[in-house]
Formats: sequence, C-alpha cells, structure tokens
Amino acid sequence: DFGEPDFDARCEEFEMLAQGAGADIVDTIIARRARPDAAYFVGSGKVEEIALAAAAHQAELILVDHALSPAQQRNLERSLKLRVVDRVSLILDIFALRARSHEGKLQVELAQLQHLVTRLTRMWSHLERQRGGIGMRGPGESQLEMDRRMIGDKVRLLRERLAKLERQRQTQRRARARGGVMSVSLVGYTNAGKSTLFNALTRADAYAADQLFATLDTTTRRIWIEGAGSVTVSDTVGFIRDLPHTLVAAFRATLEETVHADLLLHVVDAASPQRDEQIAEVDKVLAEIGAADVPRLLVFNKADRLGLEPQVQRDAHGTITRVFVSALERAGLDGLRQAIADFCRNKSENDAPAFQ
Ligand code: GDP
Repeated sequence: DFGEPDFDARCEEFEMLAQGAGADIVDTIIARRARPDAAYFVGSGKVEEIALAAAAHQAELILVDHALSPAQQRNLERSLKLRVVDRVSLILDIFALRARSHEGKLQVELAQLQHLVTRLTRMWSHLERQRGGIGMRGPGESQLEMDRRMIGDKVRLLRERLAKLERQRQTQRRARARGGVMSVSLVGYTNAGKSTLFNALTRADAYAADQLFATLDTTTRRIWIEGAGSVTVSDTVGFIRDLPHTLVAAFRATLEETVHADLLLHVVDAASPQRDEQIAEVDKVLAEIGAADVPRLLVFNKADRLGLEPQVQRDAHGTITRVFVSALERAGLDGLRQAIADFCRNKSENDAPAFQ
C-alpha cells in the first residue's frame, strides 16, 4: 500500500485475478510503505513475515500486486526460496490460460516474449555495469546475446503471422463497410458484463464467467436491428488497471476492431463501487489505442443489482446518451437496440451528401 486510493477494492480485484489464474490463496500480507524498497520491494521485516507465513501455510508461490524490477524479483526469490510472480506476469499468465483463438494465442506468446526480453536486457546491462564490460567482450556470443537473438527471431516470426491475420481482418472489415454494415464493439472494464451482454444481444453462447479476463479474443457476430439493419457486434478484450503495455501492443490487432468500430458500447458495472474509476480507466486505454474519437454510448449494466428499472436517458435533442440494462436478466435490450438504431439514423443523415 503506497497510499493509493481504493486500497480495499484493489486487494479484492487482485484476489480475483489470482483466483482467475487458478491460485488458491492461503494468506494475504499487506505492506504499507511510502515507496518500494529498491532491492526487495518490501522492507526486511516484511520479507521475514512473508517467509514465516509461507512456511506456516506451505505456500508454493508468492504473488505481488505490483510490477517488480528483475532485481527485486530475483532478490525476493533468493531470500524466500519460493517463486515470486508480479502483477504483470500474473496478467500475462491469465491471458495465456484464456486465449482460445489462434490469433489470441499468438498475441499472448508475443507479449510474453516481449516481457521476457525487457528483463533479459536489464539483467544484461546490469552485468555489464558491474564488470565494466571487461571479460564480457569476447569473440564469441555470450549466452545472453544468443538468447536475445533467438527471442528476437521468434518475435519477428510472430509479428509476421499476426500481421497476416490483421490483413485478413482488414479485408473483412472493408467488405462489411462496403456492404453498409454498421459495426458496434463492446468495450468495458473486465467483469462489467460484456460477454453476457454480447450473448443477450446476439443470443449466442460466448463464454461468460465470474472471472477476470474471461474474454480474450474478439468474437464478431452479425445481428439484425430494426431501424439499423444488419449490424456486426464484436466482444473485445476486457480492460483493466495497469494493463501491461506489452500486452496492449500485442493485442493491437484485436483492439483494431475497437478502433475501427462505428460505435462503441462502453459497458459499465453500474453496481461496482469503483464504477467511476473503471470508466476513467477504460477511457484511458481507449485513448492509448487511438480510439478516443470513436462515438460511444454508456451502457450501465447490472441494473438489477441496484434495483433499477431498465431505462434510457436522453439529452435535450432527444438523443439517447445512457442506457440502463440487465444483461443477465436480458432486460432493457429494446432500449439499447433503439439507441443503436438512433445512432445509425443520425450517422446516415450526417453522411448523406448535402443537396442545395
Ligand atoms: P466481461 O468480463 O465484461 O465479459 O463480464 P462477463 O459477461 O463475463 O460477466 C461477469 C460477471 O457478471 C458474470 O458473473 C455475470 O454473470 C455477471 N453479470 C453480467 N451481467 C449482469 C447483470 O446484468 N446483472 C448481474 N447481477 N450480473 C451480471
């Protein structure tokens, strides 16, 4: 705890992440500090406390809800004699477990390799500094250089394969756009209910679970909406606080679906106490991937948990700006379809050539 807001909610989310990765949590230890310790991340007293607790519970793994430097991770592992996994690696691990499509798997592999390569680089420069480069400069390649080269080759190969898949996606998107099909993408904080809403809208059976990151791969389905015609709906990757940058980069192709959509449905867990922070976090990621200008509609989901009736809210022009739904109870979907149809009508009016 470095004095960040919503500490309890963060703890709860981290537990959910850990469980999502299949961890069985035996103990939680909280360290309060002004700033992380450079060598061990936590103070020496805490390291001892963790070691004792780990021994008492026969823990096999230590999870840290923060990004650790390679040195911190190594030092902790050495003194605890246990594997230590930080937040970034944990998120990567969950993505690896959940990826289902070929493209999703390639994206995760790329993210993992990129994460690994930054660690190798840092370890390597650390060694160089220590020895002043002398004795490290031989005619042959060092093991680290070899590792880096092999990883580099693999990264290039993965990028090429992903680029090919991306081109296929582009072609599909263009064909849809030519056919006048409007595209709608669901975005939202992880666990907001995107998959449930996607299923409700498309009557499909995409995987929905009370686990973070249930959705990794983009699924696109075509539906018919009265007043809007044929519309493609895509369920995209869930966003989360501190989404590793390597991951955002690796998921670029998937996120492109979001960037190129005509309309984003920003699904919000209306019942979450962190609702506003989560909305801000999603907006931040959208800006990062260049989707800040895509029109969006706020969909407040889980209205049932607030005891709210599904409804729509309009602005002074009568345009629907917010929709309250319960994806689970499939309530309020007509209002949502109405909002999509309204958007579609406005769009085609604005796109139409002006006659004089
Ligand atoms: P995603 O990560 O955004 O795709 O979220 P999911 O669709 O997997 O849903 C996360 C959890 O919230 C699941 O346990 C759903 O059953 C639950 N959920 C989704 N929509 C609603 C809703 O309208 N009401 C309630 N009470 N729960 C919901």
